Amino acid sequence: MATARNVVPGAYRGVAVASVDCGLDEAGLRGHFIGREAYRRTRFIVVRKPPQTAIIAVQKESSEPLFAPITAVQLLAEPTECAYVEDPDVDTAVPTALARAALTRANGKRGVVVEGRYGHVSFIIDPAPLRVRVQEVVPPYPAKLVDQTRRVLDTAEHLPPVELVPDVVELERLASSRPSTSYLLPCRGGGVCIDGPATSYLDERPERRAWTLIGCERSQQIHEWFYGERAEQVDVCPRQRPGGTDALLTKCCLLESHIDTDGGRVIVPWGASLAQISEALTALAREWEPTWAPV
Ligand SMILES: [Zn+2]
Repeated sequence: MATARNVVPGAYRGVAVASVDCGLDEAGLRGHFIGREAYRRTRFIVVRKPPQTAIIAVQKESSEPLFAPITAVQLLAEPTECAYVEDPDVDTAVPTALARAALTRANGKRGVVVEGRYGHVSFIIDPAPLRVRVQEVVPPYPAKLVDQTRRVLDTAEHLPPVELVPDVVELERLASSRPSTSYLLPCRGGGVCIDGPATSYLDERPERRAWTLIGCERSQQIHEWFYGERAEQVDVCPRQRPGGTDALLTKCCLLESHIDTDGGRVIVPWGASLAQISEALTALAREWEPTWAPV
């Protein structure tokens, strides 16, 4: 456990809180806790002697009866490296929320105890969230895939801590890479506004002109269907963008009903559901943090 990152207690977290008068060093904690009864589910104890906090793991004689004597104590985070954070907005069952609280409220501490929503107490040791870059194009605003991913992470009890890294490009900026007197956009509804040049909308099946399509491969296919040829194009599909070295979540116009796993990245359909995004994050976690599990 000493070398693992992102150590968080699992479901039915088994975290008890105790206030003590003894020293919070290993010897003091052993002297206090060994032989004392602990509840059947208790596996960890957050030990408080304000302003000090320590986190210990305990073993018991048995986990059968309702209570059993503690037989061993392991100090997971000692007071100098441990912080206690109160924040009623943090759902302590969600590792991402625990890590975020730790890094924003107690940066530099190895062990961070969080007293969060519902008054529940949990902790994280050595927070090091998995960085997931989310590639998206706007408008519409807010960037949909980024926003959906954030909403999934807010309730993701099953995932390791994730840090969302938005990588959002504006359609107008993509368009300006290919100056034209006439642009063709996929539809009017998206809220895109390109100043100056005449703009047409593919979903209105306008008269063919010499335009530059600002769209994805699927739009290009529709163009070919309508006009019998492909258009000059700026491909806006986020899948086509270089990804860098992070775990990557992006979307593609050509995927309709399934997600696609491709090395260290996962691609979801353009109109992905929250369930598909959860599935994608699960696949990324399996790829990038294969050994992570709650303790
Ligand atoms: Zn695509």
